[in-house]
This record gives sequence, structure tokens and C-alpha cells, in this order.
Amino acid sequence: MPSFGFDNTYARELPGFYAAVQPASAPAPRLLFLNEPLALELGLDPAALREADGADLFAGNVLPDDAQPIAQAYAGHQFGGFSPQLGDGRALLLGEVIDRTGQRRDIAFKGSGRTPFSRGGDGKAAIGPMLREVLIGEAMHALGIPTTRALAVAATGDMVYREIPLPGAVLTRVAASHLRVGTFQFFASRGQLDQLRRLADYTIARHDPELAGASQRELGLLRAVARRQASLIAQWMNVGFIHGVMNTDNMALSGETIDYGPCAFMEAYDPGAVFSSIDHGGRYAYANQPLIARWNLARFAETLLPLMAPADDEAAIQQAVGAVMEVIDAFPSMHAVALLRGQRLKLGLFAATPTDDTVDAALAEDWLGLLHAQAIDFTLAWRLLADAAVGDGAKLQALFADTAPLQAWLARWRERCARDEAAGGPRPTERASRMRQASPWIIPRNHRVEEALNAAMHEGDLVPFERLLAAVRRPFDDDPSLAPFAEPAPPEVTAGFRTFCGT
Ligand code: AMP
Ligand code: MG
Repeated sequence: MPSFGFDNTYARELPGFYAAVQPASAPAPRLLFLNEPLALELGLDPAALREADGADLFAGNVLPDDAQPIAQAYAGHQFGGFSPQLGDGRALLLGEVIDRTGQRRDIAFKGSGRTPFSRGGDGKAAIGPMLREVLIGEAMHALGIPTTRALAVAATGDMVYREIPLPGAVLTRVAASHLRVGTFQFFASRGQLDQLRRLADYTIARHDPELAGASQRELGLLRAVARRQASLIAQWMNVGFIHGVMNTDNMALSGETIDYGPCAFMEAYDPGAVFSSIDHGGRYAYANQPLIARWNLARFAETLLPLMAPADDEAAIQQAVGAVMEVIDAFPSMHAVALLRGQRLKLGLFAATPTDDTVDAALAEDWLGLLHAQAIDFTLAWRLLADAAVGDGAKLQALFADTAPLQAWLARWRERCARDEAAGGPRPTERASRMRQASPWIIPRNHRVEEALNAAMHEGDLVPFERLLAAVRRPFDDDPSLAPFAEPAPPEVTAGFRTFCGT
């Protein structure tokens, strides 16, 4: 198999941080999905990848010459409880490529068989959850939200045994890196300071090279990760995305959305929305996500403390604790700033100044209050607000059973838009068109996703998947042919909707 132009810095620079493992062989590989735009971004030739052996390649039967497959070690807090050893139980990093923009990207398999980190698991994945990762990841990317992406999915021809036997698949994942909060926790919990220092060096070189050689670089790294997470979570919140399993091993230091498991997009606005079948306490509910991100960052900060102060220097430790606490305590306001920045674009406010912060935050909060009170579809409401910006509020009103509170809010909002225009903001038509760039029409609706995956899994029919994929890749387009994908699920479907980890 020709080379991918892999570089393998993780394998080369961090011996002892992984186990070398070969992927399991697949009896009857079949390529189900190839992400051509992404392949091009990576400098790979999609036509060559599609050739007869593309299926063998992406099912793990034949690797590129320069691949060096490794299962990475990590730990993690899962639902608040610490596991000192998780690691890639069904994933393998093949190597890194430098993409066309000069960025280093990991290419990794998911579902490629057992590793020393598999514990009781089979190391495998089923077609459904892997195609689900494709759909949600591509939707996130099209929405402009940092995310890992799927390069390919290949069916293996094997069955995997869950509640029922399901056809198996391997997903090839592209990520800015697979460094997680849990990677630091692995070495910190073992008191392995040298490894921890090398990991910090590696992470800084990869994601925050400007910090290399800086004094207080660990603090700088914490701050950079906090900034990226504040921005990421704000973007999730502004599209109604619920990750579903924000364990510390599922929080990437790169700031990308990673590990699509029981995630989903909200339909009717509800801050308490939870879809995951395993999240009984609602720990990872929609509105908890910023709080959980802060909690995870605190766990990350704890791993950095031993690098910031010697264990026997009480004064230095106190100082380091104070410094990291300052970052952790600043996280809610970092997130609030990022959230409001996004909300303003959705509200159509483009000339706002910091003195408008309180007013605009209240406007957004009251709008969400309206949606919550009457269980209004989050995506459609935001989208149709753009029509109201050009005086066409009929479709928006039609979403509400009781329009009086909406009218009162719209009056306030129109006044605020007029002030925005007076301050140099756009005229109504331009305002509406810019609002439509901030509020998608198309999200991967849960019932559409299920429909597509069921057809693929149970009937071998990929057409619904391909149609849905094409739609979620154009979330902001006003194309009437996309209308079926914009409709909310019937409420009775959403009420009972549960997502599964899909392991
Ligand atoms: P996740 O909840 O998918 O982030 O996974 C949590 C941990 O379970 C990670 O260490 C995974 O590698 C491991 N894991 C998940 N599914 C499997 C599986 N089918 N076989 C082995 N390990 C798994
Ligand atoms: Mg994970």
C-alpha cells in the first residue's frame, strides 16, 4: 500500500505512552463512505483511495507503508468517577500528516479490534454508530464548529455482538490531535513527572508553540485550553448540540469536538435536555455543559500543578494553586463572552459595544425563556427570526401557541435592531442574510439520523444516509429541496428519543 506521507511524532517522541498494535483483519471489507473533500485537504488522492484496495485499507487489512499503528494510553473521569486506565480500547493512531494548510492532523482507526486497553470490550464498532459519527461530525464541520472528522467508513464483513448482532465497521478519524485531559491524568495519577513534562512539551509544540520556552508555560497551556473550550462549548450551545458524554477522556486539548457517542441536537428548547441512555442523573444535560467543561478543566489543572511547583515547596504550591484557580474561575466569564458573541450574530446585532452587554444578554436570555416556556423548536425559531428582521414574522409566530409574549419580545428586539443600525449596523435585508449565516436551517435531526442509519444497517441501503449527509453539509442554504430535513420530529418521537453509546 502506498505511503500516506505519515510522520509519527507521537510514536517516536513518546515511547511508553502507547502500545504498538496491529489492526484486526476484516473478512469481507467494503467501503461505505469516503470523505473526498477531506481527503483532498489532507493531500490524498480520493480516486486512488477508492481503488479496489480502498476497502482493504480503511477496514485495516492493508496499511500504508509508513503507518505505525499505536493504541494511546489515557485515563479519565467517567461521570465523575476516576478510572486510572482507559486508553484506546478500540482505536489505533496510524500516524500524522501535514495537511494542505500546514496543519498536523492525526489519522486514526476506530473499531479496528482489541488492544491492551480493551478491558472487557471487543475493540469493534458497528456500522450504525460509525455512520452516525460521519453525519454529526460533518454537520458540525459545516456549522463552523471545530471537530474531528471521518475520512472513511468501511464495513468489515464481521458481526459485532451488542444486544443483537450488528454488522461491523471501521471508521477512519482525522483529528488535530488525540491529546485529551485524560492523557495528562494517566501520568499525573501515577506520579510520573518526567512523562508528564514530556507530554506537556509535546502538547505545547503541537497546539501552542508560542508557549515553548515561555515562563509559566503550563499556566499558559491551561489558559489556551480553557479559551478553546470556552469557545467550543459556546458554539455547541448556540446550535443546540448536546455532547452526551463529556468525560475528561472525551475532552480534546485541541478544542475540537471529539468522541461522538450518544450526542444529539436538541429540538424543542429545554435547558435540561438529555438524550443519552446512560446519563441517568443528567450530568451532561444541555445547560450543564459549560459547568462540566469547567470541572474538566479543573481536573486538567490538577495534572499540571506538579509541573508548576516542586512537591516540597509549600509556598510555590500555594502560588501555583492560586494561579490555576484564577484561570478556572475565569472560565464562566470566558464562556459567557463567547456565548454572547455568537448570540449577537443570531440576534442580528453587529454594531454592539461592550456597554450593550447586559441588555443583549438579557435579550438572548428572554428569547430562550420564550422558547422554553412553549417548547419551541430551537433551530427553526432562530432561523425564522431572520425573516422577522425583514418584517416577515408570520412563520415565526406560527411556531407559538400563545404569541403575546413573543410580540412583546419582538418589540424590544426591533428597537434594539434599530439602535444597531443607527450605530453602523446593517440595513434589514443585509441583517437578515447575515443572521441566516449564524443560525442554520438544517441540523441532523434525530429522526432523520435514525432513519438513515436503519436503512444502512438493516437494508444495506445507503441512499438515505447520502441524502442526509448532503443536506447537513449545507446547513445555512435556503434551498427548498432541503425542506424535508428541516422539519422537527413529531413531538412523540422526540419525547422518547434516546441515544446509545454505540460501543
Ligand atoms: P468512550 O465512551 O467511547 O469514549 O470510551 C470509553 C473507553 O471505553 C475508552 O477507553 C474506549 O477505548 C473504551 N471502549 C469503548 N468501546 C469499546 C469496545 N467496543 N471495545 C473496547 N474498548 C472500548
Ligand atoms: Mg472516548
